[in-house]
Amino acid sequence: MAASVDILARSARDIARAVNARELTALEIADTVGPLVREHDRDLKAYLTLTPELLRAHARRVDERIAAGETLPLAGVPAAIKDNMCVRGTLTTCGSEMLKTWTAPYTATAVERLLAAGALPIGKTNMDEFAMGSSCENSALQDTHNPYDLDRVPGGSSGGSAAAVGGGLATIALGSDTGGSIREPAAFCNVVGFKPTYGRVSRYGLIAFASSLDQIGPFARTVEDAALVYDAIGGHDPLDATSLAVPLEPTAGHLRDDLRGLRVGIVKQFATAGLGAAIHACYERAYADLEQLGAELVEVELPTAKYGLATYYLIAPAECSSNLARFDGVRYGLRVDGADVGEMYEQTRAAGFGPEVKRRILIGTYALSSGYYDAYYVKAQKARTAIADDFKRAFERCDLIASPAASSPAFRFNAKSDPVAMYLMDYYTIPVSLAGLPALSVPCGAVVPEDGSLPMPMGLQLASPLFTERLLLGAAHAYERATLHAAKLARPQIAGAK
Ligand code: GLN
Repeated sequence: MAASVDILARSARDIARAVNARELTALEIADTVGPLVREHDRDLKAYLTLTPELLRAHARRVDERIAAGETLPLAGVPAAIKDNMCVRGTLTTCGSEMLKTWTAPYTATAVERLLAAGALPIGKTNMDEFAMGSSCENSALQDTHNPYDLDRVPGGSSGGSAAAVGGGLATIALGSDTGGSIREPAAFCNVVGFKPTYGRVSRYGLIAFASSLDQIGPFARTVEDAALVYDAIGGHDPLDATSLAVPLEPTAGHLRDDLRGLRVGIVKQFATAGLGAAIHACYERAYADLEQLGAELVEVELPTAKYGLATYYLIAPAECSSNLARFDGVRYGLRVDGADVGEMYEQTRAAGFGPEVKRRILIGTYALSSGYYDAYYVKAQKARTAIADDFKRAFERCDLIASPAASSPAFRFNAKSDPVAMYLMDYYTIPVSLAGLPALSVPCGAVVPEDGSLPMPMGLQLASPLFTERLLLGAAHAYERATLHAAKLARPQIAGAK
């Protein structure tokens, strides 16, 4: 018996229940989903690589384990993996010419845990090169399209993962978020995207962009599914020195139905009036819905949040200029020969990196150079501390902070040719990242963009204090259940399972 084609419309929880109850086998799911994704991804181009052999091999393993009496939290759940996470024996390109032909020799811890929990790997998803960008347009390999309007971007940098889940070409996905790369594409693609506290999920096997900010997290169509993935991938990993040895509180069984007793902070400096009438109304309604659910809304201040972008665009390039030094034509991926070793480095890096990556390496190298280190890098680190302190003070007055996830809905291709316009997409997510806090984006309705006719999804960002993932996911679940925004928005050019 084949699993029916609506398998990709079902939740991870529902699929795992059916597989654990032996109503369906993982292999039936793999054999239905594999060809379906291959066919429908022609429109979306969410995937860079499909892994059909791995998909079937894992499905067989899951079925064996179920037959042996195990119960797996993600049994048979089709999953997509961002292409900056190593999967042994699989191309891991980071969306770059530099790694276009590089095969990973080992598997990232987060992926290992996802698969151990029973998930089935469909393939690796497109991304902005080395996770630098907000639209996937910086991918050197292909453009990914938004499932709600194929003329628009899916967001970035984890745009392939967001489009795969939003477009019905995966049930869950892993992404990485350095300054917003899970939350912004989740908002653009009408899905839930969750960035845990920095250090909660191992970075072992995640190709580094800015190590003090990078964090792996899930995409899903429901908060509960995101919680299931988080519970599976989170927790201490001795292979990552920055992974925290703080015990992981399971979240999926602890979701809430209301917000009674919670204070939700609305940030004075994040007023939405300047974002246009439709967007403003969308967030006003979202905040009113939180109140309706029992939350008390309180105004909080983040006076230094306005320095978030400037701070991030010193720290992240500084770290990336160091992290990306390893791509030198010797050890990984591309090599372009030259007359001597110096010329070989130059030629390789000139050909292997795209313009945004080069821009960041230049900025970062400059900020770290001896004459400017104190003026730029050290100053940025001080600003980072000030921003984190602002959040601490704000959380004395509230339990959660609500804001937009992105400053606009998904835009058209080539709409942001000015790099700073692109950077501004992450205005609301970056301060949260600098403070290391857990945060997510949950669908909160749709607006019709000024230059379009199709309604495009919007995301509500919720952030909470360090290590309060259970509270955060619980509150987001209550909001999601009460509003059901994701389900209300139909995909007009659906490129996936019905
Ligand atoms: N858009 C931001 C950047 O370009 C964030 C990227 C990310 O979170 N990986 O750096």
